[in-house]
Amino acid sequence: MIGTLAQGMLDLLLPRHCVISGRPLTHEEPGCVAPEVLRQAKLTSGDYCSRCGARQGEGVGVIHTCGRCEEFKEGFGTREVCAVGDYEGVLQGLCLALKFAGERAAVAPLSQYLIQQVFDRGLSEKVDAVVPVPLHPLRRFQRGYNQAELLARPLARALGKPLWNNVLRRRRRTQAQSELSAAQRRSNVEDAFEVRPRAVARLEDRSLLLVDDVMTTGATLAACAKALKRAGAKAVLGAVIARSTVGMDS
Ligand SMILES: [Zn+2]
Repeated sequence: MIGTLAQGMLDLLLPRHCVISGRPLTHEEPGCVAPEVLRQAKLTSGDYCSRCGARQGEGVGVIHTCGRCEEFKEGFGTREVCAVGDYEGVLQGLCLALKFAGERAAVAPLSQYLIQQVFDRGLSEKVDAVVPVPLHPLRRFQRGYNQAELLARPLARALGKPLWNNVLRRRRRTQAQSELSAAQRRSNVEDAFEVRPRAVARLEDRSLLLVDDVMTTGATLAACAKALKRAGAKAVLGAVIARSTVGMDS
């Protein structure tokens, strides 16, 4: 009773609003997004490209190489990628809130979606450990956290696999991928990642699940996968929240 009262007072003093619709949230609505907004999230169902995670048209089924993958011959260095959904609407709003507005509460719904997607695709049996895409230490310091790591942690727990958040590191600071064209994205992150020398022994013959928030050209996943495989990893799979195909062809 006191707890509810205190929470009610807190809501009056410090009202919380849905990060997407702006509707005030009541104390019975934890988190940062209104339940009716969350229900509108469009999730990838049975129609997707298993190679890059892109959602396909209704009733297309599982495609092993979509039109874009046909064009991107060099691939992502990943065996398969799963994406919760397209980078639009609710998923985009939550990703932006997490990445740029310091809204850590966005992790709860996003990681739930990610866990569900990874289990639905059967990726859980194929990997030995979960590896978040690292941020440069300076960017991590500025943001206060690495959003990929926040998403990877509950996923690793749900899978019952170790979270290896100190395996990969950025060798240099790169420009934000969102500011670049497809070709620039690839050269921007080319060789930007490396495996920490002390972690190399752990990777031998391991299959890893790389986790990131958004995948656009796949250049970041590809650069991470390359570093992991060069250090001895057997296979790399990818799990992302949102698959953006906008700007891929630019
Ligand atoms: Zn594809």
